[in-house]
Amino acid sequence: MTKPVYLDYAATTPVDPAVADAMVRHLTMDGVFGNPASRSHGYGWQAEAAVESARRQVAELINADPREIVWTSGATESDNLAIKGAVAANRREGVRPHIVTSVIEHKAVVDTCAWLEGQGCDVTWLVPDSTGAVAVDQVEASLRPETLLVSLMLVNNELGTVTDVGAIGAMLRGRGILFHVDAAQAAGKMPIDVTALNVDLMALSAHKVYGPKGIGALFVRRSTDVRIDAQIHGGGHERGMRSGTLPTHQIVGMGGAFEMAGAGLDEEMGRIESLRDRLLSGLEGLDGVHLHGSVTLRVPGILNLGFDGVEAESLMLGLRELAVSSGSACASATMEPSYVLKGIGLSDAQAHSGLRFSLGRFTTEEEVDFAVEQIRLVVTRLRERRRASA
Ligand SMILES: *Cc1c(COP(=O)(O)O)cnc(C)c1O
Repeated sequence: MTKPVYLDYAATTPVDPAVADAMVRHLTMDGVFGNPASRSHGYGWQAEAAVESARRQVAELINADPREIVWTSGATESDNLAIKGAVAANRREGVRPHIVTSVIEHKAVVDTCAWLEGQGCDVTWLVPDSTGAVAVDQVEASLRPETLLVSLMLVNNELGTVTDVGAIGAMLRGRGILFHVDAAQAAGKMPIDVTALNVDLMALSAHKVYGPKGIGALFVRRSTDVRIDAQIHGGGHERGMRSGTLPTHQIVGMGGAFEMAGAGLDEEMGRIESLRDRLLSGLEGLDGVHLHGSVTLRVPGILNLGFDGVEAESLMLGLRELAVSSGSACASATMEPSYVLKGIGLSDAQAHSGLRFSLGRFTTEEEVDFAVEQIRLVVTRLRERRRASA
């Protein structure tokens, strides 16, 4: 059996072969395997140099200073560190801390904020409009004197929609409220400039950008107003914000992947956009197809499509030759409709019909054409079967 066509780049990406090669050179005796914290010999110094070079590569993609990059195990940990760390460092005696976020955030943010609700924090859960947009006025109206953090994602992992983080950042400026942005799905898919966006904290992950799993970063703006407390203690690595021996090979992988993403960004965006258009125009002959989320404010590679009268679960079973998912990797084990699709106001039935197709660096026109053919075939068959049994 040949492998199914991979259309689940939003769940994870394969490591770019050049990145994998660089990683291997930082593991073995004949490579750079030392502990970057070892100060007493060249093995350590070499590893430290590799880590610092990767820090510059990651910083550059988001227009940050390398000293603003804290290595973590992934965007989940970065979100936890940003949110719990901000609350711990900024809560005041006798004041209930207030956090603003939305109902369509990634579980790494949703579950962290929900946990903090149980720890004496108030959380405002903003509901986006039907396009998936959280408006700046909505955020502003939710602010209170006790608000210490706003946490919103730049690109939604299920919908591909883009939040107007620039407008929200500008509105928050000078108010003494930290602004955290989960950019795990944005890096490598659109230009990001933390300075222009007025962001204080930003979560990044390597494995959504052709780097390895298990490594990520948190951007922490260098400013006396931006304080977070460590959530992992033990040695004071990463300027006291995240202890633990740095995994040089993982970090080199993330650095290389982010540099490649930056170098090829314009070309990649254009190429994926044309593949996306090819997929959508291929489906034009099929009626009752809905694109969930904003039509315009989106990255090209993520499409959440609904097909009238067809459940995503049955469609996915029929599309054995395509690797797709009905949203987040974590939710696909359950039969619950996506909380993100419900969060933008879709009914249970509509939410059950949503299937995510995500394209990436190794997607070809032939694969898109094959996907179109398969989708048309299976949707038509499922609809006929349904009509016959009605
Ligand atoms: C994948 C993802 C995460 C989690 O990142 P990990 O590095 O896998 O922990 C967080 N937020 C968003 C938006 C994601 O897409």
